[in-house]
Amino acid sequence: MALSDSLAANRSHSVWPVVFVGHGTPLNALRDNAFTRAWARLGETLGRPRAILSISAHWYTRGTRVTAMEQPATLYDFGYQNMFHLNYPAPGLRALAARGAELLKPWPVVFDHDWGFDHGTWSVLLRMFPTADIPTVQLSLDGTSAGKQHRALGRMLRPLREEGVLIMCSGNIVHNLERSVRHGVAQPFDWAERFDSLVRDKLVSREWDALEDYAALSPDAELAVPTPDHYLPLLYALGAAEPMESISFPVEEIDRGSMSMRTIVWGG
Ligand code: ZN
Repeated sequence: MALSDSLAANRSHSVWPVVFVGHGTPLNALRDNAFTRAWARLGETLGRPRAILSISAHWYTRGTRVTAMEQPATLYDFGYQNMFHLNYPAPGLRALAARGAELLKPWPVVFDHDWGFDHGTWSVLLRMFPTADIPTVQLSLDGTSAGKQHRALGRMLRPLREEGVLIMCSGNIVHNLERSVRHGVAQPFDWAERFDSLVRDKLVSREWDALEDYAALSPDAELAVPTPDHYLPLLYALGAAEPMESISFPVEEIDRGSMSMRTIVWGG
């Protein structure tokens, strides 16, 4: 059964684009900068989806979970107390959680009532869809799966794109917090730039199979992707995208020397 038609339909796309957003520091939610302006423009360009399925680096679990509550909480999964007043009150959507689980069968999916919107989701959506009234559901990353499986799950979710759902994957292609330069203007590290460009080239040349195993891509992966969490959302986007679709990069900068903010849109 496709996602319920009871929602106000806005089918401005017959097939909704897929988005991967490089979210970077949660502080972006407070800032008016090149990244947040690009997210805002992207939201305007996309139009209004019926619902959003967000796959964020910050929900890394054993097995796959999906948020099933009516009103997900805004999670402050960071230490910046000057951000605790911000809120993203978008509703959840049980029908989308159920539809996602149905599409992923026989892969087991647990309906979750404890999570909410982590900053990988809300710090971006606050700028992309500031009215915070589009029903939004999060799907977790199964920390026990290999890259190929993450991409396969993304592929299984592809029909949602024809049901008015925006699949938004939120991570960072290069993400090394330990090496990040927190003060002043930082030049990108060579390894960060090389790895980000390599991924870009593979995306453009449609060599997507090679992207499933980031460690095998280049020795730079050791510094560029020290842990899998921020890279894996890219594989869901790749799974949900079709190779013949257009690819664009609304953001291409590297922030703090070690964080690729590259944002990618397939289709649209
Ligand atoms: Zn993050």
